[in-house]
Amino acid sequence: MRNASDLVISVKPHSLSIMDDGRFVLSFDRAGRLYTAYREGRTFVRGLSGTVVEKWHEQGEPEAPKQVRVLAEEEKRAFLTQLWSDVQTTIAAFRRGDARVQFFGGGVSASDLDRWLERLLAWDVQAYARDEERFLSVYKPVSILPPDQYLALVLQVTEGCHWNKCTFCDFYRDRRFRIKTDEEVRRHIAAVREFLGDSITLRRSLFLADANALIIPQERLLRILEIIHESFVFDERRVEGAFEGIYSFLDAYSGMRRTTEDFAALRERRVKRLYLGVESGHDELLRFVNKPGTAREALEVVSRIKAAGLAVGVIILVGLGGEAFFDSHVRETIAVLNEMPLGREDIIYLSPLYIHPGSDYEEKARAFHIRALAPHEVKRQIHLIREGLRFASSVERPRISIYDVREFVY
Ligand code: SF4
Repeated sequence: MRNASDLVISVKPHSLSIMDDGRFVLSFDRAGRLYTAYREGRTFVRGLSGTVVEKWHEQGEPEAPKQVRVLAEEEKRAFLTQLWSDVQTTIAAFRRGDARVQFFGGGVSASDLDRWLERLLAWDVQAYARDEERFLSVYKPVSILPPDQYLALVLQVTEGCHWNKCTFCDFYRDRRFRIKTDEEVRRHIAAVREFLGDSITLRRSLFLADANALIIPQERLLRILEIIHESFVFDERRVEGAFEGIYSFLDAYSGMRRTTEDFAALRERRVKRLYLGVESGHDELLRFVNKPGTAREALEVVSRIKAAGLAVGVIILVGLGGEAFFDSHVRETIAVLNEMPLGREDIIYLSPLYIHPGSDYEEKARAFHIRALAPHEVKRQIHLIREGLRFASSVERPRISIYDVREFVY
């Protein structure tokens, strides 16, 4: 018989976790679907798409870079089979009275817990496989989100990237760009709601996808936001079923089409933060990687967004242009970031470049004899950029964070 202190079921209004004395921690949404697991020093994140990403640090090497990989199909089945067995064992222990239960926050009763545990039991390997199929009937692959939005509710109001030609980026090469009609947006929202059911409460923000949904002309975007407001409730406090805000990507070239007043109209409709792929402050490097727009334009777009009262996430690609562009990338990026009117609600993401084999970037870098940075040089570039940043006050400084795209899963 297990000791009751070994096994803890922790219940929050939007998630349920099972902890087995350091052996594992498993977290589920209200539908009973796993979203994170921690087991033997390794973290597993399951996206709604069914993809499972595993993350760990090599034992005894705390300085070593984080390891990240996607589980292959067979490994995923084995992982889900083990999960199913752990869930069954825990629920049996709970029903025998061998598990402690902790309730956090209101809104969850003992009978609610019982129904939740019943739902957990329905998630065997086949149920997860069916869930993957349902996901694909609702979404095109969600290729990337900013790290603080990994748990957002994604609405694909556009598909693909309007530009789709940056040499380092293959996120949307599988689809043509298009803006959904109002009717398609309505149907998409209904399908997303049906797919997630009660588990939608785990998600607190809405993210307008795909790559640069802010390319949508202003009037049409306002109409789409209206449809969204007809379908969802917004409230910044953690009110049951309410979302705290709307987020999206944009690029310098698409951002230049909007005035400060346009951005202010988005803020009035609960848009909170926009994420801008600046990549570098060095225009020659931007041209080299076929990124549209210039550093000056990025600065102008950030200034308009901030003047409109919105927050901004600025994304810089560390290692872009390899050794050849190392110094100019650092110098010009620091210069443009230091001119941006960033405050505490803003984020600077430093995102190490991962070169996709066979990509246009890899080919061009080879043709120009550009050596990619080694991991220690990437670290040094991050350090130099951080060191060069100056903000008006330590209180008002934006958050600076690493953005490892390998960890993304939706
Ligand atoms: S980096 Fe942005 S603009 Fe460039 S291809 Fe990728 S999604 Fe499109």
